[in-house]
Amino acid sequence: MPEGQPVIFAAGTLMPVSSPPVGDGAVLVEDGRISSVGPLSEVGRENPNVEIRFFPRYALIPGAVNAHAHLGFRREDKPEGGTFAGWLSKLIERLPEKESWGAEAARNSAREAVEAGTTYMAESSPYGECLPQLAASGIAGTVFAEFFPHEIGTPEEAVEYIVDKADGLRKGLPERVGISVSVHAPYTVDPESSRLAAQKTRDLGWGLAIHLSESPEEVEFVRHGTGGLADIFGSNEWGGVGVSPVRYADDVGLLAPQTIAAHLATGVSEEELDILAQSGVAAAHCPRSNDYLGCGVSPVPRMVERGIRVGMGTDGLWSSPSMNLFEETMFAVDLHGLDGATGLELATLGGARALGIESETGSLEPGKWADFALVELALGDQGSEREVLEAAAGGSVALTVVGGDVIYNRLGA
Ligand SMILES: [Zn+2]
Repeated sequence: MPEGQPVIFAAGTLMPVSSPPVGDGAVLVEDGRISSVGPLSEVGRENPNVEIRFFPRYALIPGAVNAHAHLGFRREDKPEGGTFAGWLSKLIERLPEKESWGAEAARNSAREAVEAGTTYMAESSPYGECLPQLAASGIAGTVFAEFFPHEIGTPEEAVEYIVDKADGLRKGLPERVGISVSVHAPYTVDPESSRLAAQKTRDLGWGLAIHLSESPEEVEFVRHGTGGLADIFGSNEWGGVGVSPVRYADDVGLLAPQTIAAHLATGVSEEELDILAQSGVAAAHCPRSNDYLGCGVSPVPRMVERGIRVGMGTDGLWSSPSMNLFEETMFAVDLHGLDGATGLELATLGGARALGIESETGSLEPGKWADFALVELALGDQGSEREVLEAAAGGSVALTVVGGDVIYNRLGA
């Protein structure tokens, strides 16, 4: 479509997510944003001179918001799963080799996400190394730069280093790509560095990403200071504090509304749910990664009942089979017995809420960015949310649009 010209995208089924589905529904896109949503007959009549692109056998849905991902891994080097600590030690062994192909892996992972209808991604990578590939992909998002204090110096030096690094990387980014900081995990970042990073990012108004309560080994390390994570870098001696990872994270100030905590798969009882709900922290649910690494099942239905914001995350290709967030979501739908509408909301608006960007994206509403995916329906489908999710999970995304720009188009039109 010509740059800057308004255009109407319409489909046999339009699913705004924030409101009920519309048969033969349309969105009017102007200057990258949605300016009208409704039946094609109305939107077309009110905008008679605007080009209409109508796809009768498709569903138009908000793009996937991936609330926790890593881009820099490639499928063919995936370490064996089974146990988290075993997987992590193999991962660490392979890091030197990854230097030679990490950038290519990040490009490929991002392309896979684009082709699966992803329009926003919260990506975590060491020192923000995957920022160039995310920025080049056309997806909007934030890269959370992970830091490992033992590689840098004192907690003060480590936090100053990563904040300065993120600040430097900020310059010249596309309008909708940001960078912030990640406190990688309770077993890799010491308590004082965690506390300082949480404080500093909060003062700056930045988001914060963490991995939390992911594995049985993490629970053992934090509680007892023992197990497979106790000597992961040979220098993490701060475990054994006698509480759960969630309680520990709260004690060091990591839990707050601008924090997104990935996994929460192991050791999350009612007591932890109380802490999570009170702190306002959001969760990123990565069930396929949890399954691969023997990490248990995150109590997502209980979290939602408690008002904890939950989004979906694919994690990366070293623990997950694909970067398709809709496929991840179908796994969660079957795992927790959710209905299709709940699944579609988790994959889109749920992720946007978890990341605090729901006023900008995550549903098809006037004023939000025109971030959406067009999904080809299978023959005989009636266009229910579950059918649309299954189709998107199975590779039927035909068009991915971010801020009104078509970043993927397999229709050739
Ligand atoms: Zn992760």
